[in-house]
Amino acid sequence: MRLYSGEKLCGKCFCKSIESRVRATISKYEMLEPKDKIMVAVSGGKDSVTLLHILTKIERAFPEATLSAVTVDEGIKGYRDEALRVAAKNCRKLGVEHLVTSFKEMYGYTLDEIVGMIQKREKKGLTPCSYCGVLRRRALNTAAREAGVDKLATAHSLDDETQTMILNILHGDALRIARAKPVLTVIHPKLVQRVKPLCEVPEKEIAFYAYLRKIEFQGIPCPYAQTALRNDVRTMLNRMEEKHAGTNFAIFRSIERIRPALEAMAEEAKLRDCRICGEPTVGDFCKPCQMLQELHIL
Ligand code: SF4
Ligand code: ZN
Repeated sequence: MRLYSGEKLCGKCFCKSIESRVRATISKYEMLEPKDKIMVAVSGGKDSVTLLHILTKIERAFPEATLSAVTVDEGIKGYRDEALRVAAKNCRKLGVEHLVTSFKEMYGYTLDEIVGMIQKREKKGLTPCSYCGVLRRRALNTAAREAGVDKLATAHSLDDETQTMILNILHGDALRIARAKPVLTVIHPKLVQRVKPLCEVPEKEIAFYAYLRKIEFQGIPCPYAQTALRNDVRTMLNRMEEKHAGTNFAIFRSIERIRPALEAMAEEAKLRDCRICGEPTVGDFCKPCQMLQELHIL
């Protein structure tokens, strides 16, 4: 097995090296405390299921910490049902409490129904992923808050992080990079702190780890994935990484270096309660309510 750095390792040492790098990331960014109640966002895909396995190992050394998992069922026919089954199976195997929340329950509509409405009403502006991302973030925060946890761990890999950095630049919103940190700053009591323990592990290495540890995960891609700009950015960065190994790390480290300057430039968001749902927002209405209103759901 060869790491991104070129170092060759046997399968066992490779897995141990990934686990110790995740421990190092957690400690470097002070992501977790020994008594934390941690909830892992588990979609059923390789990254989130792998994170759950690694955090379960790490948590064993901290008897006062607790670990649970949450899956958001967006309502994507033929895709999420299988992922839910896989997520539940992994949680059972690891003895981790598993909570499931859904768009249908929270918003009254599945993502498939929302996509049907966008297509019918010819609202071409936003992709299914735009709705999905915003509504899922809200669903995860609500589930974590209601469960009373201290930290919500998400499985963003190094690749996800660099894609987001480039996407923010492509959207002309470079200052947003300041906020998308490995440990998100809590700016409102209703927001649960999000941490990203896999942010320094390349996606390929996560896939190898899952393969070597014989972790079951859902392999088929979401039917809406092709519609997102992220997909083009991913293809571009993957090509760069193939030709110039270390590209993702170089981008990540560069951003980490300039983040303090970006943070100093970005104004701290002042949050108030959304006039519809009461959740924290910068304006009068939060993004999920705005989206649902535009669809005339609310
Ligand atoms: Fe949601 Fe897009 Fe991810 Fe599918 S690819 S689960 S629509 S964010
Ligand atoms: Zn709202």
